[in-house]
Amino acid sequence: MNNVTSHNADAESAALISDWKKSLAATGPEASLVLAELGDRDAAELAAHFYKVMMNDKRASRSLSHDQVRERLQPAMQRWITNLLQANPDNVESLIAAQRVVGDVHARIGIPVDLVTRGTRILKQRMFALIAEHAGHGEAAHMAIASLTASFDIALEGMTLAYSNARDRSSRTDAAYRLFSLVQNVSTERERQRALLLDWENTLLYALASQGEVDGAQSLAQSEFGLWFTHKGIPSFGESSETQQINDLIAAIDALLQHTLQRDSTPQERAAQLLDVRAKVGQMRTLLGMLFERIGELDAGSDALTNLLNRRFLPTVLRREIELAEKSKGSFAVLLLDLDHFKAINDAHGHEAGDRALQHVASILSQFTRGSDYVFRYGGEEFVVVLVAIQEQQALVIADGLCKRISDSPVPLSDDLRLNITTSIGVALYDGHPDYERVMARADAAMYQAKKQGRNRVVLGNEALPPPPDRAALQRN
Ligand code: GH3
Ligand code: MG
Ligand code: MG
Repeated sequence: MNNVTSHNADAESAALISDWKKSLAATGPEASLVLAELGDRDAAELAAHFYKVMMNDKRASRSLSHDQVRERLQPAMQRWITNLLQANPDNVESLIAAQRVVGDVHARIGIPVDLVTRGTRILKQRMFALIAEHAGHGEAAHMAIASLTASFDIALEGMTLAYSNARDRSSRTDAAYRLFSLVQNVSTERERQRALLLDWENTLLYALASQGEVDGAQSLAQSEFGLWFTHKGIPSFGESSETQQINDLIAAIDALLQHTLQRDSTPQERAAQLLDVRAKVGQMRTLLGMLFERIGELDAGSDALTNLLNRRFLPTVLRREIELAEKSKGSFAVLLLDLDHFKAINDAHGHEAGDRALQHVASILSQFTRGSDYVFRYGGEEFVVVLVAIQEQQALVIADGLCKRISDSPVPLSDDLRLNITTSIGVALYDGHPDYERVMARADAAMYQAKKQGRNRVVLGNEALPPPPDRAALQRN
């Protein structure tokens, strides 16, 4: 799915690149000079103007008010403006790539599209005024404005392209995560619902046999199965013709119970009606089986070896934690753990022993964190723990505890062989920055420091730590 998306995005980028080149080629040298001068002279003022206007917007100021955003946004905006004004046919490829990065960041932070278009409108208006002021209203000024408008539109299109692709991706993951958390164990849930439906049917038959009639309390829609199906089943399975058919069957069965079976009818008629109910329940069973089968085939969301959460849900969890922390003025922490010298362990004891060690660590992590925390398998021998609603000191205590527990609990490989393992942990606290990649990057840098300082230790991350070499960004995985 991702490949298809990025392939399409590349094709769309190619169209933008070619349009931009055409527009720039049509811009005469005089108009280009007007734009270049505008960049040299006014980029800083334009960035300041943009920031000032946007800070007056309540929604915009929420994402912009963070210190780091303020420190970085203005210079970044200034660079963006200069680059746009000095665009030339030779550098549009890299300019489009840069717009796509901006679109990705906007998607991660959740900046609404209308705020971005408003921002570009503010800049455009100011630039047009400055062009009129310095270059008048002649041919060159006119051409400059036409070229600038095209550059703005194309840049915005590039951003939006990346933005909507990223949003599509994350909403698919969010949906998968919802499904996963609703129906964590598909086969248990299937058996439970089968049993509940059977219970309902038996109760009905019993009532009919003993009293000769049924009462409203036995409606299928209100039964435990019916409630589960409406509240959890449909959102988990997703609406489809099968869920619709089950809904219709439930309604039809309840109507039969309410209106037909209640009335006086001959024993033969009743027997026929009862057969009808049972046939309908049978159809429901078949449909349910199909629905369960289908979600059982979906990637289960947990890592097969360790049973921990799959890392693809990490962005979903972090986005939600950032939202919650922002609302409650609280904080959360990310622990990034990497087992020490794991290659050597595999080499000395075999891959199977390595796998046992990974399961051992996974169980320590689950056991010694709260039920509300999240534990992910992040990579081969790397784990991420998200400690929710927590402050720095407490997070460090937990991280230290996990580090000690891992080093103090050798992995039992056989009766007489115990394997000592240690881990390096990087800790990062949410600092109010709306982009989850920031907190991940700090945890990563801290973990790298823990390795450098000798392993088997915890290091708290901060902005000053250098990034480790060769780390791919989270969202690209
Ligand atoms: P360091 O202390 O610097 O982290 O050393 P390291 O050997 O752990 O680091 P590195 O990242 O170079 O190696 C990780 C090794 O973990 C590579 C691979 O052999 C092993 N590994 C990764 N995934 C698995 C897995 O699923 N099972 C097993 N048994 N080993 C794995
Ligand atoms: Mg590693
Ligand atoms: Mg390692």
